[in-house]
Amino acid sequence: MLDDYDVIVEATDNFRAKYLLNDYCVERRKPLATAGILGLSGQMMFIVPGSTPCLRCLVPEPPLDVPSTSQLGVLGAVPGLLGSLETLAVIRWLVGMRDDPLAGRGRLHSFDGSAMRLRTLNVERRVGCLCDAAVQKVKEGAQ
Ligand SMILES: [Zn+2]
Repeated sequence: MLDDYDVIVEATDNFRAKYLLNDYCVERRKPLATAGILGLSGQMMFIVPGSTPCLRCLVPEPPLDVPSTSQLGVLGAVPGLLGSLETLAVIRWLVGMRDDPLAGRGRLHSFDGSAMRLRTLNVERRVGCLCDAAVQKVKEGAQ
């Protein structure tokens, strides 16, 4: 179903779907905008397989002890903000703004609504990650 699309935007509410989309995009080398929200906070990452770390670089396996949105709730403006960040990242990618350090590649954008603060954290590729193996496979195929 996703093979016909150039960029994938993840907007699901469960870790199983987030990791499934991450793994699909890494395998197919498709850019992925992914975000998570809970309560008054949220995080967004724009993943470019082969260039940036992926979701599994950040958290190798789906976390088990995170409260769900049905338990903790979500303030409606938070998913709106994170969805807008995903949209902005995709538009920037589609118009060729790919080498700009502010494009969000390899970075986690974290919003804390209780403090009204948006921070950007650098994310490094994890050695041995699924995305690391996919890059190695491409390099071997090119030789
Ligand atoms: Zn990775």
